[in-house]
Amino acid sequence: MTAPPHPLVSRAGRLASEVLAPHAERVDQEGVPASSIAAVKRSGLLGVSAPVAYGGSAAPAAVVRETAEILAGACCSTWFVQAQHHTPVLTLALAEGGLPVRERLLGPLARGELLSGVAYAQLRAYPRVPVRVSRERGGWRFDGTVPWYTGWGLNDVMMLAGVTDDGEALFAFTEAREQPGLRPSPPMRLAALTASRTVSLELGGLWLPDDAVALRTPYETWAATDRPKNTNASPAVFGVTAAALDLLDTGPPAKETARVLRARLGEVRRRAYELADHPVPSERIEERLAAKTLAYDVMRAATTAAVVAGGGRAMDLGSPAQRLAREGMFLLVQGQTATVRTAHLGALGAAGPAGVTG
Ligand SMILES: Cc1cc2nc3c(=O)[nH]c(=O)nc-3n(C[C@H](O)[C@H](O)[C@H](O)COP(=O)(O)OP(=O)(O)OC[C@H]3O[C@@H](n4cnc5c(N)ncnc54)[C@H](O)[C@@H]3O)c2cc1C
Repeated sequence: MTAPPHPLVSRAGRLASEVLAPHAERVDQEGVPASSIAAVKRSGLLGVSAPVAYGGSAAPAAVVRETAEILAGACCSTWFVQAQHHTPVLTLALAEGGLPVRERLLGPLARGELLSGVAYAQLRAYPRVPVRVSRERGGWRFDGTVPWYTGWGLNDVMMLAGVTDDGEALFAFTEAREQPGLRPSPPMRLAALTASRTVSLELGGLWLPDDAVALRTPYETWAATDRPKNTNASPAVFGVTAAALDLLDTGPPAKETARVLRARLGEVRRRAYELADHPVPSERIEERLAAKTLAYDVMRAATTAAVVAGGGRAMDLGSPAQRLAREGMFLLVQGQTATVRTAHLGALGAAGPAGVTG
């Protein structure tokens, strides 16, 4: 007998089939609407990883991954906007009890009353410091450029990261709106995920008080836990792959292609999640990178097959095949670090088409 799905997996399924999937092509062209965000907020999924004491579900990692697969497969743009929320939630959950910003925000974020964005990938450019934080008037002053910030106009608050003059990574919360010292660019027009309302942010003396700070720690301490994270395959890659394979179930010969790729997907997914569940995140990095790269291979094959099977109609902007192929392209660079980029390029260079390389 199989166990019934976790309630959040069922809710993700309903959100996907009733709200996200039916409008995915339109959303891809016009942007994630506020109504989708309202539905995400109501679903309980924003609290999937949040502590129960604050109104979240503290669900097991397997549930977190499955809900991400379901949302990403239905509408990658909506998945990505809400995906930003989970890093701020985890940062607050790990902060010491009684910290003012934790007590103020963790409950509303866990219960889905507020949606958070995050601006922190720029930290990984260290020792280059795109966002510098200095002590000023008993608080913190932010200067520099955030190259990527997703969900502008959709999220309520943002967690902003920079590096202090003492070489610490500092994370603080502020409202996600234009304010003195914080100016957004126009929304970026991108090959994929334009719908995610991604902007860059110019910071010129944004001042935040001490009680907005969620984390302040030596850069190396932060980087040591951050570095291994993105060596794991993203559940979104498996979600997009499965959605592309579903488009192939139309009849031979596409059906046979789907059968073969589905078996490959099952195998690489099992391997990737076994590694993700390994208790020491900094171990077995080579294997994690190999599984991540294989996951990209299967995704590329699946989204390509969906386009091939669709013929000329697959080029229509209303076709799910072209949308999934572009979303898959975005996932190739999402959360990319220098290590991931090197491993992926290495694998692409090593694997020549059969009969071409010896
Ligand atoms: C559409 C879109 C939306 C995004 N939204 C967000 C968001 O909301 N919040 C967010 O935080 N991020 C966001 N990102 C950033 C994303 O997660 C990745 O960090 C980013 O795609 C990596 O590529 P890059 O071009 O920014 O980094 P690059 O500048 O190309 O750097 C890639 C990696 O190289 C290394 N590196 C870079 N410069 C140096 C240097 N000088 N010395 C040593 N190593 C270096 C770092 O490890 C870095 O991670 C978004 C990206 C995209 C494409």
